[in-house]
Amino acid sequence: MICLGIESTAHTFGVGIATDENGGKILANEKSTYTTEHGGMKPRDVAEHHASMARDVLLAALEKAQLSIKDVDLVAFSAGPGMGPCLKIGEIVAKYLCLKYDKPVVPVNHCQAHIEIGLLVTQARDPVTLYVSGGNTQIIAKLNNRYRILGETLDIAIGNALDKFARAAGLGFPGGPVIEKLARRGRFVSLPYVVKGMDFSFSGIVTELERRLKQGYKLEDLCYSFQEHAFAMLTEAVERALAHAGKEEVLLTGGVAANKRLQEMLRTMCEDRNARFYVVPREYAGDNGAMIAWTGIIMARKHATKNIENVRSIQRWRIDEVEI
Ligand code: AMP
Ligand code: MG
Repeated sequence: MICLGIESTAHTFGVGIATDENGGKILANEKSTYTTEHGGMKPRDVAEHHASMARDVLLAALEKAQLSIKDVDLVAFSAGPGMGPCLKIGEIVAKYLCLKYDKPVVPVNHCQAHIEIGLLVTQARDPVTLYVSGGNTQIIAKLNNRYRILGETLDIAIGNALDKFARAAGLGFPGGPVIEKLARRGRFVSLPYVVKGMDFSFSGIVTELERRLKQGYKLEDLCYSFQEHAFAMLTEAVERALAHAGKEEVLLTGGVAANKRLQEMLRTMCEDRNARFYVVPREYAGDNGAMIAWTGIIMARKHATKNIENVRSIQRWRIDEVEI
């Protein structure tokens, strides 16, 4: 079975192609990502970017896989959670392909897709997943055959927090990589540290950082301290989730998974607990079409349909609402 997957929940328009042969293989993973030099991203501008890039990315993926659209058995799209105008572009492209080429369509949960591709490309089997990205920050584990959210942000996502502070400091988007770089030269400043059970909050830290920036604190020190506080909060909550769920593996994914300091903290915690630690490689950790294609294959038996009227994107679709 060959599945073409479309990702468009946020800044990335991606098209991936996956097959279930040999236990699963990715045949293509093409994308175009919206970025800015200054300022953040406006959903409408991002949707415009996706609409204008859709054709090129689709053709690039087919070319990479050396396939024609006729070879594809089903089309999956990332149906949520995400930004409304961006989701719509993926939905429309998927439905167009299904109608024109008479293929079944599979709506895929974006957060589940991050986990499924992580399981495909690492040795992890049954992990506690820390999914850290621009729009989501969740600790997820499979319990009783359903993905459960064991912990999550009470306000904004960690990636969004990094991007917000970066925007305030005039560092452009995405902010995470720039903050990571500046942090290497920074010193410790005490900031709010907010963990409630296995949940956490980041907006207070950002407000405090912005205040201190105006007061003349060194940007390097603020970047370093931001990372130390926020990542320690995440690591603490993941450790608690591991004990609570009785799991022995941690899987780190999402765009923020690229951060070396976050990796280091989690790795140390896992070593102390005799848990195995896996990081999803960057190509598959950030938003991408391959994860949607692969999850489309996993979900196809239950959820594929040619009746597209009943299929639509859902801005707030939580992973614990998905039947697996
Ligand atoms: P995603 O939404 O999963 O594609 O991830 C995008 C988010 O990852 C953005 O908020 C980026 O700022 C963040 N990000 C990317 N690279 C890094 C990094 N090295 N350190 C921290 N955050 C990062
Ligand atoms: Mg994502």
